[in-house]
Amino acid sequence: MLRTLRSGKWFRGYGQEVAAFERAYAQMTGARFCLATANGTSALLTSLHALDIQPGDEVILPPYTFVATLNVVLLNFALPIFVDTDPDTFQIDARKVEAAITSRTKLLMPVHIGGSAADLDTLIDISKKRGIPLLEDACQAHFGEWRGRKLGTLGVMGCFSFQASKNLNSGEGGAILTDREDLVERCYTFHNNSRPRKYSGSGYVGRGANLRMTEFQGALLQAQMQQLEEQSRVRQRNAATLTKLLDQIGGLVPARVYPGCTGNAYHLFMARYRKEDFSGLSRRTFLKALQAEGIPCSAGYAPLNKEPYIRETLASRGYQAIYPTELLKSWEERTACPANDKLCEEGVWFAQTMFLGTSADMEQIAASVQKIRQHAGELKKAEKTTD
Ligand SMILES: *Cc1c(COP(=O)(O)O)cnc(C)c1O
Repeated sequence: MLRTLRSGKWFRGYGQEVAAFERAYAQMTGARFCLATANGTSALLTSLHALDIQPGDEVILPPYTFVATLNVVLLNFALPIFVDTDPDTFQIDARKVEAAITSRTKLLMPVHIGGSAADLDTLIDISKKRGIPLLEDACQAHFGEWRGRKLGTLGVMGCFSFQASKNLNSGEGGAILTDREDLVERCYTFHNNSRPRKYSGSGYVGRGANLRMTEFQGALLQAQMQQLEEQSRVRQRNAATLTKLLDQIGGLVPARVYPGCTGNAYHLFMARYRKEDFSGLSRRTFLKALQAEGIPCSAGYAPLNKEPYIRETLASRGYQAIYPTELLKSWEERTACPANDKLCEEGVWFAQTMFLGTSADMEQIAASVQKIRQHAGELKKAEKTTD
């Protein structure tokens, strides 16, 4: 960071730090090419441009994700088609993807939510069979794996975030991985205000924006990434311990992983709260009690497909001009996700930083859950009198 500061070269066009990070991240993940971006949202936005997603296109995505996955679809005036969640894994239910495909479908955008993998065997099969590209939103999945290969390298493109909450953190930051040179060059041009890497004259090609990473981010990431492999091992070891302990207690059911997922980044430790195992105690009171025990936790995502702003966007002038009225009318019914609705009422999250500690920390989490389960009846009575 000081080297960058003192060099006075703070823009990737002047310095070497972003380029050095790109080489290192590509090597670390096994991708042929890496392009760094300002953040994960701009990595996704750039990729959607490179894959030629246009107004009138449909994009398949899960409803259990961060809002950015959806926003890049709406920014391109494409139609988001949500496919329901597999409640056992919290991932997009790959078995339901094919039924959601129409002649308008131009992209499959699964998310490796929590850092565990979506069912890539099934999704890649569908992508090949139907000729629809697969973009992995791997913004939570640094160093996650599918059958020994790094997540973000199995689809035609993969996107990452280095925002402050993520497993690899430079405050803000993002990256795109791909094996295709034509795509990485399209991405470069788009994120560099329509100017290709090599150009003559004005050189502008296509639409573009400035979504470049700074040299400070590039320098910080090179230092941060040195710990990533070891930290991934620690998180997985601790998460395996906690899974075992919670399975013994019952009532808080950890998300299962697909057999192909050989590495879980554990950006989130996700579990389902089974109220009936806690004398009917509400999830809200359970989370409050767990926090009172000193365990940071949260309820996780609400159903993204039900956000009122989507309906408002679809009612806007642009969407009304692009899509047939009947198509927009049927959107809500087409994108209903009942399994996800239920899952969102049951979710409990522990954040990745908690898994960088010791196994004693895991025992403390489990002991707190057990304590609440033992006293659930009393808490339930108190819940009634305070409500
Ligand atoms: C964080 C995140 C993003 C967006 O990344 P930013 O760097 O915050 O822009 C996109 N998708 C998912 C699943 C994320 O978790």
